[in-house]
Amino acid sequence: MNKRNFFLTLVFIGLLGVPVFVCFEILNTLDAKPIAKPEKVEKTPQPVKKSSDEWKKILTPEQYRILREAGTEAPNGKVYQEFKHQGAGTYVCAGCDTELFSSKEKFDSRCGWPSFYDPSKAKNVKTSVDWHLGYPRTEVRCSVCDGHLGHVFTGEGFDTPTDKRYCINGTVLKFVPAKPSAQAPKGKQKDASEGK
Ligand SMILES: [Zn+2]
Repeated sequence: MNKRNFFLTLVFIGLLGVPVFVCFEILNTLDAKPIAKPEKVEKTPQPVKKSSDEWKKILTPEQYRILREAGTEAPNGKVYQEFKHQGAGTYVCAGCDTELFSSKEKFDSRCGWPSFYDPSKAKNVKTSVDWHLGYPRTEVRCSVCDGHLGHVFTGEGFDTPTDKRYCINGTVLKFVPAKPSAQAPKGKQKDASEGK
């Protein structure tokens, strides 16, 4: 190889190196910036409206009686026994699958019905005054399908952050267990089931 060829070879290698270097730099930049996950935007659920016949098709007779006719399940029933043993997860409306409560706000009030000190999604739960028993009680409804869920009582002296007891018919809640990775560490889980 004479000097000229040697020089040209160096230039050639040099020129080849630039694009390779640039490519590496671009790849590095791509690596450094994780692709941003789209932010979870919580949409306000659209109201769910159905005729009595349509509700009867998708609900059990007991769910229909409670959700659509403001009924109440018997206390300490099978559903309540199951509820007591459920771990971390969320509770969605049996009528429209909207999230209403979660195991984080669950507590044992020993009243025989599922109790929560707060809804997990406040905007999905609405209240109104109910005079069915001749005195005012605060009725709790699903704000999406307007289904009757139960009642909320305040100031009963429960050692919870709100001193409210959302006394809910377990029949109209569907339990969705938390994914294993989303579950709280063991020490925390104990809190949710304390007092059982
Ligand atoms: Zn609902």
